[in-house]
Amino acid sequence: MKKEVDVLILGAGASGLMLGALLENKNFLIFDNNPKIGSKILISGGGRCNVTNGNVKAKNFLGEQRFIRNVIKRFDQHALLAWLSERGLTPIVRKNHQYFCEDSAKEIVDVFRKEISSKCIELNTTVQKVTQVGQTFEVLTNRGKIKANKVVVATGGLSFPKLGATDIGYEIAKSFGHEVTTLFAGLVGFTVQPEQFFFKSLSGIATEVKIKVGEKEIVGSLLFAHKGLSGPAVLDASLYWQKGKIEIDFLPMVEIDALKASKKNISRVLTLPSRVAKAFLDELKIEDKASFKLTSEEWKKIERLKSYAFAPAGTFGYSKAEVTKGGVVLDDIEASSMMSCKVKGLYFLGEVLDVTGELGGYNFQWAFSSAYVCAKGLE
Ligand SMILES: Cc1cc2nc3c(=O)[nH]c(=O)nc-3n(C[C@H](O)[C@H](O)[C@H](O)COP(=O)(O)OP(=O)(O)OC[C@H]3O[C@@H](n4cnc5c(N)ncnc54)[C@H](O)[C@@H]3O)c2cc1C
Repeated sequence: MKKEVDVLILGAGASGLMLGALLENKNFLIFDNNPKIGSKILISGGGRCNVTNGNVKAKNFLGEQRFIRNVIKRFDQHALLAWLSERGLTPIVRKNHQYFCEDSAKEIVDVFRKEISSKCIELNTTVQKVTQVGQTFEVLTNRGKIKANKVVVATGGLSFPKLGATDIGYEIAKSFGHEVTTLFAGLVGFTVQPEQFFFKSLSGIATEVKIKVGEKEIVGSLLFAHKGLSGPAVLDASLYWQKGKIEIDFLPMVEIDALKASKKNISRVLTLPSRVAKAFLDELKIEDKASFKLTSEEWKKIERLKSYAFAPAGTFGYSKAEVTKGGVVLDDIEASSMMSCKVKGLYFLGEVLDVTGELGGYNFQWAFSSAYVCAKGLE
């Protein structure tokens, strides 16, 4: 391992790799604790990596809106797609404006592999501590110490520890006087309390819903899971949930009054997958009979499916979460360069910051945009 470098990037994930790719003639090194680069990218988006989204707005992120807007606008989805296209990668829109690699997430990791000399990457290198002596940083790893003029913290969040996630980025931030918000598992499924255990018997079935969490309404697909609830709408809802009740409209396209005269059985008119309809009817203690035969008392119970309120027990946790909600507070970061306002030469990128995107390619866009801004700051 080298003893000295100008720019040391901690983390060979989305943001660290993009920064390395943009730092053309600089004397830099990237450290990562994994045996390969881009581990999270490789499993993302169901193996196809949802690179970005055709509609990227600050409101798609939790975090300080002006800061996010300023960073994204300098390297937005169009700039990212053009940059990738110049390197032979043309992601395609699959659904809801979401751009994915055509066949596999390996395509985007290969772009970085081509752009960054392997001499600039040290794998199996776990960062343990960063200190500063005068203007120089000293970085301690499992493989020894290195000095750097500038250190870029691109170590991501806490989710998926089996892919190398650690809290080192937050610890480095705190050790240099930065504030870190409370952290939560985000874009993650909900576990349920005993009253909703019947959901588990529906594991594997998806249905369209509208979820209300506080002021936020999310429309999309819900997946009943072995441990509780998952699916895109639930993952997005987890970003806005801390504790307490959420409300699910299991019949978002249905006007209950319009069903009342039907001669078809209630389980068939509810526009739910039949096993789900039957499970709810069992729960509500309603016999599956012709809709027009239901009593007004029974219709009242059915109404509850339009605003099914319950308190999740918790979330599936960091082992299943796609992101960490919260992070290094943006007040002390310069939006023009991603440099710390407290410590000259120290930079923070990507998920380690208090910016969390919704599901749909926003988190990679944030990682790439923040890397671009940092690269310009380092010029
Ligand atoms: C299953 C899954 C699917 C996802 N799918 C998508 C998707 O399709 N679209 C999307 O936009 N987002 C997706 N995300 C979120 C996205 O992967 C992250 O937001 C993004 O990778 C963050 O980039 P980053 O560079 O900040 O961190 P990361 O990409 O996590 O990179 C951080 C790197 O730092 C390394 N590191 C950590 N600690 C140390 C240490 N002590 N020493 C050395 N190295 C260390 C890590 O091993 C990692 O390689 C997904 C996440 C998961 C878990």
